[in-house]
Amino acid sequence: MHRSMVWLFLPLVLSLKACHSVVEAPPQDPQRPNIVLIFTDDQGYGDVGVFGAADIPTPNLDGLAAEGLLLTQFYASQPVCSASRASLLTGCYANRIGIHNALMPDSPVGLNPREETLAEVLKARGYRTGIFGKWHLGDHPAFMPTQQGFDTFFGIPYSNDMWPLHPQQGPVFDFDPLPLYEQQTVIDTLEDQTFLTREITRRSVAFIEENKETPFFLYVPHPQPHVPLFVSDRFRGKSGRGLYGDVIMELDWSVGEILGALKKHGLEDNTWVIFTSDNGPWLSYGNHAGSAGPLREGKGTAWEGGVREPTIMRYPGKLPAGEVRDTPFMAIDLLPTIAGQAGAPLPEQPIDGKDIWPVLTGREQASPHEAYFYYYRVNELHAVRSGPWKLYFPHRYRSMEGQPPGSDGLPGEYVYFELQAPELYNLQEDPSETREVSGLHPDVMDRLTRLADSARLRFGDALTGVEGTQTRPPGRVEESQ
Ligand code: MG
Repeated sequence: MHRSMVWLFLPLVLSLKACHSVVEAPPQDPQRPNIVLIFTDDQGYGDVGVFGAADIPTPNLDGLAAEGLLLTQFYASQPVCSASRASLLTGCYANRIGIHNALMPDSPVGLNPREETLAEVLKARGYRTGIFGKWHLGDHPAFMPTQQGFDTFFGIPYSNDMWPLHPQQGPVFDFDPLPLYEQQTVIDTLEDQTFLTREITRRSVAFIEENKETPFFLYVPHPQPHVPLFVSDRFRGKSGRGLYGDVIMELDWSVGEILGALKKHGLEDNTWVIFTSDNGPWLSYGNHAGSAGPLREGKGTAWEGGVREPTIMRYPGKLPAGEVRDTPFMAIDLLPTIAGQAGAPLPEQPIDGKDIWPVLTGREQASPHEAYFYYYRVNELHAVRSGPWKLYFPHRYRSMEGQPPGSDGLPGEYVYFELQAPELYNLQEDPSETREVSGLHPDVMDRLTRLADSARLRFGDALTGVEGTQTRPPGRVEESQ
């Protein structure tokens, strides 16, 4: 081509390029923001820099908080894996839908496919949905993620310790090796999990890239820092808190990779990123457990350390940057709040969560809930929270108080305490729950007791023998299958 012809065509070439770049830019729909939900396993309230972890660098999570909201009183619905996940994905108290404790491999029970998950709610609005990590809501094929609204699944079906561990002591569990799934197919079995956080991250980033032109829901329930702990060589020995801290550093790196992918594809402004954990630290594991910071007790208890989670969210232009919310929230609230932002109808069956958007944005201060209820084990109501008050009912709970700690992957032994009478704490003045004040506030005791009675009528309570009237059955398969 003659040189002058090039000049002649240059404007056309440039305008074609401009057109091309317009076509390439993702047609972002502000009515359908992307949702990224990162959900770690057994991470303590004190295990993120901005939540007070001075010995574990978490620059990506700290940065996320600087650009978004720090939620200082965000609760898991229960202090245990499966029940907590059931609530997160359905907006229901787990006992409303019959999921209790942690489901074991080959469990005949799972999340009822008739329940509508957050993935199904968003899929109905045209979202692409992916889960990369740990499912733990039933490993029978009928209960797996691809039957519950997820287009894509890569990860493990239950906890990463549910395989024969510690051969030097004999198997802890009489289970098969831990399976690794892609969709409905087992592609490998895992003993060495050191690559898993990296691979989950790689696939999450690829999912963002593949779906950059459609609204997507990316759910990343990391199997770590649940024991047994595994970390890549790159992070080994890098934190000031041993292997546990190294694992948290790798999770923080993973957050950074996901945020980087959003930025690279111009998706930052139209993506709501949420980071939280499923329950508090598993304290019997000593130096392989996380820290609940100033909070009392840990995983497997309704005390604050068991259920209050380090939670951060960022949604540029929609949620304020660098602010703190200390209103109590619970994971049950995410489904209705996300559905509200995505213009998606709520599930047809009743749910328990409420839209907390006005409180998140700062337009309102008061929680839409009069109270939150803390169940554990098979339907035992352990506590109720309303305003600053948390009332505990007589129950048995575990503690490591005075016990030799676990070490290097082997657990110590819990001691069990009986709470003989109701105990009341003011969490605003006493977040560490050290001063029992029921005798000083009979009016508060009356009000919270009545609230708990109303919850018992709805969901039941094994401690007082009340049958609930609003519960639904879990999914169930014949044990012979
Ligand atoms: Mg857990």
